[in-house]
Order: sequence, then C-alpha cells, then structure tokens
Amino acid sequence: MIHDVIIIGAGPAGLTAAIYASRARLKTLLLESYDTPGQAVITSGIENYPGFPEGLNGFELIDKFRKQAEKFGAEFKIANVKSVKKSKSGKDTLWQTEAGDESMMSLSVIIASGAKPNKLGIPGEDKFRGKGVSYCATCDGALFKEKNIVAIGGGDTAIEEALFLTRFAKKVTVIHRRDRLRATEILQERAFANKKIEFMWNSTAEEILGKDKTEVIRIKDVKKNKESKIDCDGVFIFAGYTPNTDFLKGLLKLDKKGYIISDDDMKTGEAGIFVAGDARKKLLRQVVTAAGDGATAAFSAKKYVDELRGKAYK
Ligand code: NAP
Repeated sequence: MIHDVIIIGAGPAGLTAAIYASRARLKTLLLESYDTPGQAVITSGIENYPGFPEGLNGFELIDKFRKQAEKFGAEFKIANVKSVKKSKSGKDTLWQTEAGDESMMSLSVIIASGAKPNKLGIPGEDKFRGKGVSYCATCDGALFKEKNIVAIGGGDTAIEEALFLTRFAKKVTVIHRRDRLRATEILQERAFANKKIEFMWNSTAEEILGKDKTEVIRIKDVKKNKESKIDCDGVFIFAGYTPNTDFLKGLLKLDKKGYIISDDDMKTGEAGIFVAGDARKKLLRQVVTAAGDGATAAFSAKKYVDELRGKAYK
C-alpha cells in the first residue's frame, strides 16, 4: 500500500494538513504518537483562535479538528515514528516511514511532529515527576486543591497556566529567571491583578526536595547570589519547548535548536517532504499559525503528487 501522503503528528498542523489533503482526494494516512500529548491538547484555555470568542480548551478544539479530518476520509494510525528514509520503486522516489516493526510507504510526507516541554535538568525533577512535578496544568492542576504551587518560566505557557492553576491552588508562586516576563501583555495584566499569584524575579530553581513527594523547592536569587527554600506541594515547569525532530537528523536541514528549515510553501530541502507547525523554524508558534502551515503543506504535497503523476496544472 502506497499512500499519497503520510502526515506525522496529530496536533493542529497535522490535522489541518489531513483535512486539506483528504479533501484534495490524496490518499492520506496520519500517524499519531501514543505517548506524547501535543501542546495544544494540554492547553487549559485557547482564547486567540478566531471564531470562538468565548474561548475553548485545547482538547475540545483539537477534537473538532480531528472529527473534520475523519469526515473527509483521512486514515489514522497510532505509531511512534523512528525514521523517514528515501526509497525507490521503479523510477519513482518513495518515502519510507518506520515505526516499531512497521514500514509505511508514501509519495510525500508532512512532518507535523511539534515540540516537547523542556526539562530544567535539576536534582529532584525526575525523581518527583508525577509526585508533585508536572509539565501540564490541565492534566494535573486539579490534584492541587488549596495547595501551594510553584510555576517556573515567564512565557505565555507559564503565565497562562499559572492563571489556570489559581482555580485550584491556595497560592501560585511564579519563579522567573529574569526581571520581566516574556508572556503577552494581556496575560501579564491578569497575572499581576490575581491575588493568588506571587512573583519571584531573577530567580532560578536549583533543587526539588521531599521524602516520597514534592515538599520543598530550593531557589537561587541570581542577582543577590542568595539561596532560599519554599514549601510547596507542586512544581509546574514551563521552560519552553524543543522540537520533536531527532528522528530527522541527517535527512533534513535543521537549525541549531533542531527546528526544520523550510520555505514559504513548507518545502524542506528534500523533494516530497514538507513541514508544518511548531517543529518548523518560524517567528510565531500558535494554533492558528500551525493550522495555516498545515493547509499550505497539504497544498504543496498535492502539487508535488500531481506533478509525479503528470496531472499537474501548468
Ligand atoms: P517560551 O516562550 O520559550 O518561554 C519559555 C520561558 O521559560 C521563558 O520565560 C524562559 O525564560 C523560561 N526558561 C527557559 N529555559 C529555562 C530554564 N532552564 N530555567 C528557567 N527558565 C527557563 O515558551 P512557552 O511559554 O512554552 O511558549 C512557546 C510558544 O507557544 C511561544 O511561541 C508562545 O507564544 C506560544 N504560546 C502561546 C500561547 C497563547 O497565545 N495564548 C499560549 C502558550 C504558548 P526567558 O524569558 O528568560 O528566556
């Protein structure tokens, strides 16, 4: 079985590509990983996706994307992709996508593999993961009713999720390594006005301590070079993301951080491989820009497949 396009990733970029590809009548297979929930799915509230003035949670929005892709005939399969390789069949170049023992062939591939949360790499982080340490407020926030929580980071995710955590927590202390936030202004205004949120500026988390679960976090004020400890039941880490592109090393051109380099048509350096969403080197990573990338990538894949088959419009 040779698909016209295999899409790797089931976030807003991959699902939008699946909607466009299947409507264009490409034989479309979307591969989704079984162990890494996408960034949009775990977002507590999305209020800047046009058309939903009342906002939506990420899970609901992605579920709608998915139903739309299924409606137009895209196939779905759970598979953790290990590699994508060039292969030949007669005069055609095919792409061979490998996941576990399976090998799947397609004329084109759209990489929409997104990004995974960064770890801080401090002592106690791994030991207490699932025992107070979390990277997902939507998944774990409700476990911390009337508790003291620490949120680390100063970007959109940290501030949006710190605000979400105040629904449950007694107090949320945001620890940020600089003296100002990176998050968008409207989120900053809300966080500064929220009585349950406190800020510790110019501070880094050094160690998470406890017996069987998280009890204390050791903090360093990097300006005063002074350490302190805070009692807390939960530590939520929002220190940015790293693209899921390890499986493409050696095949595609990546930047220093591992983002895939592409042109405006979502073409990578390899004919027949396209990219969309957060794994791509670009200025703004949002659900709406991921969806735009997905549409463009599917359109480019359709053109590529039509050209291979000699059906392209000139
Ligand atoms: P981000 O913008 O890269 O911010 C990461 C934050 O973590 C920064 O404040 C950074 O500090 C801090 N940080 C990174 N490494 C650290 C370390 N080792 N120790 C301590 N702090 C560390 O990541 P993000 O907030 O997850 O956002 C990712 C993308 O998604 C962005 O493009 C964002 O706009 C988008 N997003 C948008 C929305 C929305 O529109 N509502 C919501 C969520 C995410 P510095 O500031 O000092 O670098």
